[in-house]
Amino acid sequence: MSQVLSGLGVGLNAVVAEVFQVAPAAALPAWAKSAAGVEAESTALKTAIASVAADLARLGSAADETTAEIFEALTYLLEDESLFDMAVAHMDEGWSAGAAYGMAVNEFAEMLAGDAAFEERIADLQDLSKRVQASIAGIHVGLDLPQTGAYVIVGEDFSPADTAQFTPAVVGVITVKGGPTSHTAIICRSRSIPAVVSVAHADEIQAGTSVLVDPVGDRIVIGASLDEATKPLEFANTGRDPLVEVRANIGSLDDAEAAAKTGAVGVGLFRTELLYLNESSQPSIERQRDLYASILAAAPAGPITVRTIDAGSDKPVPFLNMPEEENPALGVRGYRLIQDHRSFIEDQLKGLEAARVATGREIWVMAPMIATVQEAAEFAALARSLGSFKVGIMVETPSIAALIPDLEGVVDFVSVGTNDLSQYLFAADRMNPSLGALLNPWQPGLIRTLERIASQAKAAGIYSSVCGESASDPAFAVLLAGLGFSSVSASRSQVDAVRAALSAVDESQAVALAKSVLAAKSAEDTKSAAVAALSAL
Ligand code: PEP
Ligand code: MG
Repeated sequence: MSQVLSGLGVGLNAVVAEVFQVAPAAALPAWAKSAAGVEAESTALKTAIASVAADLARLGSAADETTAEIFEALTYLLEDESLFDMAVAHMDEGWSAGAAYGMAVNEFAEMLAGDAAFEERIADLQDLSKRVQASIAGIHVGLDLPQTGAYVIVGEDFSPADTAQFTPAVVGVITVKGGPTSHTAIICRSRSIPAVVSVAHADEIQAGTSVLVDPVGDRIVIGASLDEATKPLEFANTGRDPLVEVRANIGSLDDAEAAAKTGAVGVGLFRTELLYLNESSQPSIERQRDLYASILAAAPAGPITVRTIDAGSDKPVPFLNMPEEENPALGVRGYRLIQDHRSFIEDQLKGLEAARVATGREIWVMAPMIATVQEAAEFAALARSLGSFKVGIMVETPSIAALIPDLEGVVDFVSVGTNDLSQYLFAADRMNPSLGALLNPWQPGLIRTLERIASQAKAAGIYSSVCGESASDPAFAVLLAGLGFSSVSASRSQVDAVRAALSAVDESQAVALAKSVLAAKSAEDTKSAAVAALSAL
């Protein structure tokens, strides 16, 4: 195998560590009836519970004190007698041990759903349920991640729920699938985990091999040292303020706290759906208020732009029970959820208003996946009726990008989600590893669309920002300022690098850079034009 494998880099930092191959999670068998009888099924369940409890004990003994305590609490849940009895009742109806336990856990979770202390544990209990069912079926599910040491983990792709389980031992990530704007990429960038995605054949690298993850070079190099990593552009410290404000993208309390340690002025994108990826029931307004209030209180000073839920497609939220769709990226996602889940979007806005009052923070709210001016107007009216917010929309579909002048007087601001805008402009699935080149933000087709959005928003008196991953690239952020955007919002780990680039240029330099980029005719040439302009500073 070649020593150098190409992919798409995420972030500016490189790392060298040993490869840890993560086995793909197998699917659980469908629930079925069994002819084996209650005695045999309940023995199978007892054995599986004991085996999962032993796994937890093993993991707990290797973990820190807090984690060990969590594992201990989980073991109590796992061995709960009333839960076992509920499962036996289903075995009496003829169900197999795995099915009976799965059903019992669902009922148990439903019974305790109103109990605030327990709600937090529902996702854990569901995870245990999967482990027990897998143990009964004799298959392996779930990610087995290294708990200690330092490893570059390699896998097919990691879902948002998978990335939430990354341990501190994960110091680098390589995926075979997934594009530069996939959620693995977004989460790695925000957590400063060097990653290269879309690396064909990475799953063939032997575990234990030392590998350089070189995101700036868009490659991984087997056996290379850190000195061989490609260096990012460096900018002189001018001591000036950035040309446009730099906000932070967040999705959790942890992100908000980390962003507050950067030079970010407020938050340009709070991805609220990331809070709900493991929730099996709809959280109450009070619970949302408390969650938002803690995040708002921790976020960097400045306005906080909160996006209403953007579930669907690659971000499934269990309690919304979204139907399977042929083309999920073109289906009922983002603001379209208002069709069947109006109460959730209203509750989100009510919870946010209560959190705004409790914290005194300035909140801007925006809806994702808006395609028509009517949707924008409907969302604006709803948001204004439920709280004191600045109201805006995300520009992620080509249709709304063509209608910016018509938004005059309808919304206060627009924020461009270049991840989805690229996906829909180029008809290129952002999760498809072989389409990474079309999703490259340096594509002239995207840049010229951005130019029109910025100038038409300015003419319509609408504040404009970009919060897609493209704004986390320092050179691209300078281009966006030169095109006329009012602010950019970057992944928390990139905020200071983006600020440094935007502090190194004045307005006429950024406008000149934008002019030379707009004249270029390929993604390679637009990027080289920007790099040449920045290197000449
Ligand atoms: C985007 O599409 O650019 C965006 C910021 O939203 P998300 O990546 O969460 O879809
Ligand atoms: Mg999007």
